[in-house]
Amino acid sequence: MEATCQCGQLRAIVPDQGGSAVACHCIACQKRSGSPFGVIVYYDAASVTIIGEAREYTRIADSGAPFTTGFCPICGTTLYARTARHPGGIGITVGAFGNPAFPAPVRSVFEECRHEWVSLPDRVQRFPRGRVE
Ligand SMILES: [Zn+2]
Ligand SMILES: [Zn+2]
Repeated sequence: MEATCQCGQLRAIVPDQGGSAVACHCIACQKRSGSPFGVIVYYDAASVTIIGEAREYTRIADSGAPFTTGFCPICGTTLYARTARHPGGIGITVGAFGNPAFPAPVRSVFEECRHEWVSLPDRVQRFPRGRVE
């Protein structure tokens, strides 16, 4: 499967199967995405190929670990994310697949910041803040 930015110069090729999507309602994800929540699907970094030019922005996440997002310098779409907590993984923004049939998130985190009108399927695991590990 392929995810692309709005203008198409930044792309990610990911495996057809696997990956688990997480919805995050935290304020930083709201600002990053410009949406009421962000949804990112995580894969093994070795199984994902990024093509094109990206700029990166790193912030310190609530967990205390650096969280880096990669975005297209032309159109501004966030395409990928990495966290120092899971160096072997990479996240791809679900909206960048442009696929309304993409599987629903398995987890919903930072529900304490969730916009009240946003509802997710009952099977989604919910956490008030980050996942307890
Ligand atoms: Zn672009
Ligand atoms: Zn977040």
